[in-house]
Amino acid sequence: MTAQLGLGEVRALEERYLMSTYRRGKVDFVRGEGPLLWDAEGREYLDFLGGISVSSLGHCHPAVVEAVREQAGRLLHVSNLFYTEPMARLAQRLADSSLGGRVFFSNSGTEAVECAIKVARKHAHGRGVREPEIVSFEGDFHGRSYGALSATPGLARNEALGPMLRGFRSVPHNDAAALREAVGERTAAVLIEPIQGESGIHPTSDEALLAAREACDEAGALLIFDEIQTGIGRTGSLWAYEQTPVRPDLITTAKALGGGVPIGACITGPVAADVLEPGDHGSTFAGAPLATAAALAVLEIVDDSVLLRRVRELGAYLRERLEGLEGVRETRGRGLMIGVGLGEGLDAGTVGADLLERGLVVNVPNPQTVRLLPPLLIDPHHVDRAVALIGESLLGLAPR
Ligand code: PLP
Repeated sequence: MTAQLGLGEVRALEERYLMSTYRRGKVDFVRGEGPLLWDAEGREYLDFLGGISVSSLGHCHPAVVEAVREQAGRLLHVSNLFYTEPMARLAQRLADSSLGGRVFFSNSGTEAVECAIKVARKHAHGRGVREPEIVSFEGDFHGRSYGALSATPGLARNEALGPMLRGFRSVPHNDAAALREAVGERTAAVLIEPIQGESGIHPTSDEALLAAREACDEAGALLIFDEIQTGIGRTGSLWAYEQTPVRPDLITTAKALGGGVPIGACITGPVAADVLEPGDHGSTFAGAPLATAAALAVLEIVDDSVLLRRVRELGAYLRERLEGLEGVRETRGRGLMIGVGLGEGLDAGTVGADLLERGLVVNVPNPQTVRLLPPLLIDPHHVDRAVALIGESLLGLAPR
């Protein structure tokens, strides 16, 4: 690309040529460094969204950039028909840092969930279940392909996209009794988020997680944690399940795993490690050297107890400061995955747009909630700057 277009011209191109599946914030970003972004006019923004929990090391982290540069100059792709070292090393690192089984790589979170669904259904068929069922919580988000979408109760109700797949059901979030009731002989898996992200940061209670574990054990079903948003250090441990009383049989990861390069993975424990066999699943791009080299660089930094403790401390500091603001009703979440529940008369959409104008990037998952997913490497002064901007915004927009 030679010439730089203005925001108006980029928007005009988009309106003519892109399917209108997104409502975008009115800014075109051209550069990023650490927790900062700059738009085409050179205006600076503090990024407390991190590309929806993707840029967890901040933008253009030198170690990730170097790994990508080095790998891009050496080998980009050969397909899954051959061995490549970065893929094998990353699989080892992911399995050894979590459930100890095997890994299937994907190009996105959705595809990691697709793999988990396949493993669960095949595992159930192995137990003689003919019509396997997957149980999730209302408010869960697992992705947008038809399998993942069918396991995403809120979106699966969109009849215009129907029919959804058979074999999916849901129970109210955190309703342990309803979950126990729903899990039975036909259940292939309980597929849940340890903290619901897209619905507005709603932690799944220990009671519900324990009920899910027990019900799965009784039924012979698999417990799958979708850690696509919660994983890779976001909550202050490498995986969110480490701060819960249960250990799942599979986890899915993506988002921050590649530091901005698309990659996902489905990781099993021993029970599900050998379910898939040659011919059951595949992907042309998945696990290719570029993405796996980037992910190895990310894990080298994030899988560090000092960094993870800092995420917990900074998260606690951020929540304490937010809770002192006029207009904040509550905060929810763990580590640096925070939902800010706003008080009466405040519309989160208006607050989000106002914050963007003030130079703070956040996300608005629902009209009552501002979602914060800042890079894990921020400093307390970034927290102070973000809280000051949120405070000014809430004061300016407070109902009179
Ligand atoms: N699962 C969870 C918990 C997510 O938060 C997301 C994305 O927001 C997905 C699955 C889908 O991931 P992707 O958009 O990479 O397909």
